[in-house]
Amino acid sequence: MKRFAIVSKEDTLTQEVQMELLNKMHANNWELDQVNPELVISIGGDGTFLRAIHKYMDKLSSILFVGIHTGTLGFYTNYKRDEIDLFIHDLSSDNPTVHRIPLLGVEIAAHGTLDYVYAVNEIRVENIIRTQLMRIYIDEEYMETFRGTGVCISTQAGSTAYNRSAGGAILQEGLDFLQLTEITGIHHHAYRSLGSPFIIKKDSEIRLESDNFLEAILCYDHLVLPLLDDSVITVGYCTQTINLLVRPQFTYIQRLKSLF
Ligand code: NAD
Repeated sequence: MKRFAIVSKEDTLTQEVQMELLNKMHANNWELDQVNPELVISIGGDGTFLRAIHKYMDKLSSILFVGIHTGTLGFYTNYKRDEIDLFIHDLSSDNPTVHRIPLLGVEIAAHGTLDYVYAVNEIRVENIIRTQLMRIYIDEEYMETFRGTGVCISTQAGSTAYNRSAGGAILQEGLDFLQLTEITGIHHHAYRSLGSPFIIKKDSEIRLESDNFLEAILCYDHLVLPLLDDSVITVGYCTQTINLLVRPQFTYIQRLKSLF
């Protein structure tokens, strides 16, 4: 028997979809294994999908992910709740369509220790209490000192999420660049930073430093870490990828149109 796991929202509709899915998966020789799955099905929205990825972050290379949406379609959720048969059909095909989505790797150095986290959509360094100053380096080269609430560094897949709300560009599938976007930057005669989204080469590394990161936070997808005064954050694409089962012939433009 092949092994699958489910990560789902708690609401009644989602629980009904989950029950139908469980019955159909069992009928197709799949058994539920929440610890060691080959396939992880998220039922809910894009937020549920992000939670599924982070739950199985240490096993990404051996897992195929798929999203079933209980509302409208999302970017990572390719099947609607009434398309379970279609999903099982696509899954059982000899040559399922799988997209590999690269992740951001984030190193946080502080007080002589190192921490690592990963992000699918973006990381943000934000300080909502006081003006945050931070020096931005790209591939070890000093670019600017930013002043304001913070910055967002997003992936291609995350370009339609927070990045877009912050005025960033949408990057079409295949354009696996990094994007650096300001979050309420301060621009006047004394202080000035780039002020527009910056699309950066895929293999670049962005480093954020400050004289004081106290009260600042590092958001990565839906998760958050407090920063320490001397934190140094280094961000770039890492070698980890997500294997996502997608609907064949469901184009990027169609997905974009279904969202906005
Ligand atoms: P959630 O589940 O409520 O999702 C927030 C919204 O972002 C939903 O509408 C979701 O469909 C959408 N979304 C998530 N990833 C997307 C993507 N790659 N492309 C297009 N839309 C996407 O919230 P959550 O669990 O907190 O999810 C975390 C994500 O939500 C973050 O990674 C961030 O990108 C996004 N977010 C956006 C804003 C904003 O736009 N102002 C604020 C907070 C969080």
